[in-house]
Amino acid sequence: MADESANCIFCKIVRGEIPATMVAENEAAIAFRDLDAKAPVHVLVVPRKHIVSLAHSADPATLGEVLALAGDVARQEGLDGGYRVVINTGPDAGQTVHHLHAHVLGGRNMAWPPG
Ligand code: 5GP
Ligand code: ZN
Repeated sequence: MADESANCIFCKIVRGEIPATMVAENEAAIAFRDLDAKAPVHVLVVPRKHIVSLAHSADPATLGEVLALAGDVARQEGLDGGYRVVINTGPDAGQTVHHLHAHVLGGRNMAWPPG
């Protein structure tokens, strides 16, 4: 594997090389619980293919599948009172894993604006 997906932690989860608590999947994306949950429900939705960030993607179909799965996760987790979907992009937003991911956060009130 010559590309950057070889050492990418989320690509390793997609490939089943490291464990994660899976909650949902579709053809283009998978959803699993965040290791360091910031809310009662904190699930990450990641495309199966390696995309560094929203700033690197020109693939609306994959982005659509990621958001669709985020909505499925929220329904499945019973977040009837609402939830937040966050895509940190780049250093100013504090993106730490360089494989695009949507955070699905819920189960408590969300402050606005976010920090
Ligand atoms: P970011 O700060 O890039 O938006 O979010 C990265 C998220 O990935 C963080 O919330 C962090 O807790 C989570 N994370 C990092 N490494 C792992 C891992 O190996 N497994 C899981 N399930 N979550 C991870
Ligand atoms: Zn990756």
